[in-house]
Amino acid sequence: MNVDVTAGAVAVVGGGVIGLSVAWRLAESGYRVVLVDPAPRSGGSWVAGGMLAPVTESWPGEEEVLALGSASLARWPDFAERLRAAGGDPGLRTEGTLAVALDSADAETLAVLADHLRELGREVERLSGRQLRALEPGLGSRVRSGLHVPGDLAVDTRETLRALHAAAAGAGVEFVTVAARSVGPNVVELADESTVECAVVVITAGAWSGGLHPGLAGLVRPVKGEILRLRARPGALPVPTRTIRAHVESRPVYLVPRESGELVLGATQHEVGFDTEVTAASVLDLLRDAQQVLPGIGEYALTETAAGLRAGSPDNLPIIGVLEPGVLVATGHHRNGLLLAPVTAEAVLSILRAEELPAAVRAADPSRLRGVPALPSPAGGPR
Ligand SMILES: Cc1cc2nc3c(=O)[nH]c(=O)nc-3n(C[C@H](O)[C@H](O)[C@H](O)COP(=O)(O)OP(=O)(O)OC[C@H]3O[C@@H](n4cnc5c(N)ncnc54)[C@H](O)[C@@H]3O)c2cc1C
Repeated sequence: MNVDVTAGAVAVVGGGVIGLSVAWRLAESGYRVVLVDPAPRSGGSWVAGGMLAPVTESWPGEEEVLALGSASLARWPDFAERLRAAGGDPGLRTEGTLAVALDSADAETLAVLADHLRELGREVERLSGRQLRALEPGLGSRVRSGLHVPGDLAVDTRETLRALHAAAAGAGVEFVTVAARSVGPNVVELADESTVECAVVVITAGAWSGGLHPGLAGLVRPVKGEILRLRARPGALPVPTRTIRAHVESRPVYLVPRESGELVLGATQHEVGFDTEVTAASVLDLLRDAQQVLPGIGEYALTETAAGLRAGSPDNLPIIGVLEPGVLVATGHHRNGLLLAPVTAEAVLSILRAEELPAAVRAADPSRLRGVPALPSPAGGPR
């Protein structure tokens, strides 16, 4: 595809972290951009923990996800710097991540991860419970071992979204706050019966993308995640410096500190369609597991419970590329949309300019999914 900046507008459908990053990057590069979303920033991105963690997210068999995540992480410092200048501070934290284990099964899971990373030539440091507590004194006495991963970072998700929104608006992106009903080459049909005519459409509607174009039907599924926000009250133990990830009786839990003294605690993972209600059982599990890791949180204020939808793909890699002439897609970022925003925005720009894509991005091309059996679509569809 070679779309000249004079060819007409680019319509970006969906304004979560991916759509906003794409819209900003294209507008900065001279394209006229229309972003279609009834409620920008309201999708899965708004509730995300904000970890930029390709290493602690990796697992044997998902090497392409690790390669793409690492490529995007390398772009984050520059992305954050440019965002600070153009829209606001995304709150990039560089203190790194500790992955900790409480029982022998959890320790075994971490050992598999450490061996896998070593085979890939990525050294991580194994630490005892005592060494971990020397780094983060709030860790509980049941934490018995873990890994230090200094390269896995975090951002303040909501500040990132505010900054992207402002940067996109500042670069001239036009916002149309109506839902799209469907997308075809050169046109977006809107729920109010009007249309947006354009040179190219980019589908970035997260978990809702599957209902917008037949080429995505059954390939993108909603994966519900629940998250809690806590705040250290005066006199309580301060929030940790690093992101803490743990397995507690095989259930994953993570605690992401914010500069403001907030602690984001997540996250559940349920395949229950477009349901976004927080259940009591999930709150109970998250608090109980997190308290085993960081006992001091019992004294924190619980300030928010929230649920959001990740956009799952059949192989956990996103779907980035051309669906048909005039229609691009950038979705399916599953657990890593914040992490993958910089590399995705660059990829969409490169596709429009007919530039060669890096191998890590080519692996995410939608053509790899041809012939993959479609899932039954869950009730809900596009917003
Ligand atoms: C609990 C939880 C924790 C997470 N933690 C992390 C993390 O720590 N790190 C990380 O990298 N990722 C994390 N993720 C994943 C991350 O949130 C997603 O990968 C990311 O939100 C994907 O961004 P997106 O822009 O594709 O989709 P979304 O953020 O879901 O945005 C989709 C947008 O499309 C819009 N839309 C929907 N339908 C239509 C329509 N018909 N027309 C127009 N617009 C429409 C919505 O209003 C929304 O604004 C987490 C997700 C959850 C749920």
